[in-house]
Amino acid sequence: MDHKVNSLAPPGPLRHNQPMAKLYFSYAAMNAGKSTLLLQAAYNYRERGMNALLFTSALYASDGVGQISSRIGIAEPAQLYSETDDLYLAVHDATESAKVDCVFVDEAQFLSPEQVWQLARVADRLRIPVMCFGLRTDFQGKLFPGSSELLAIADILREIRTICSCGRKATMVVRQDPSGRVLTAGDQVAIEKSVYLSLCRMHWEEAVGRWPVKGPSS
Ligand SMILES: [Zn+2]
Repeated sequence: MDHKVNSLAPPGPLRHNQPMAKLYFSYAAMNAGKSTLLLQAAYNYRERGMNALLFTSALYASDGVGQISSRIGIAEPAQLYSETDDLYLAVHDATESAKVDCVFVDEAQFLSPEQVWQLARVADRLRIPVMCFGLRTDFQGKLFPGSSELLAIADILREIRTICSCGRKATMVVRQDPSGRVLTAGDQVAIEKSVYLSLCRMHWEEAVGRWPVKGPSS
């Protein structure tokens, strides 16, 4: 993990062993392995005797238990956040009882814009790096609110790549009903687990019926 001090940063007063911290956003289409990368990065912190604080969205949590799990079978407990939680206060409170070296947020697309700013303050004022992982766009090709704010203000943006069946980079997501039919309408947040498929932009346009273009207007 790279937390180099920006050479333009003013010289201190930095706390011991705590350089300027950054807000990171690692974004991906569906099934790109972002939770695996998050858990691997958190593991790297712990392996070095550092304390990582993990958050994930309450939206998909069954029975109120927070967990970040990856398709390859690894999982870690995580604190749940919902839209009304103040994440700056949550991290600040955690630092009262233990040293916090890094904060990880999964499903960061579900953060409210205000919560993204709260996490920015964790980096800027508590000097704790914050690593957010999430989807960039929904199944209709629109930015999620949390992702939009993160793309706007994060210090470091990282794209986690996955590929379409054609071999191109998959940047878009389609949602399918149980019979495999592609859905083009519905809530941005589907609480029931739909099936999602990551496609390149070209094949996404075909899957959602935008290509070939119909009618004279477009
Ligand atoms: Zn494709």
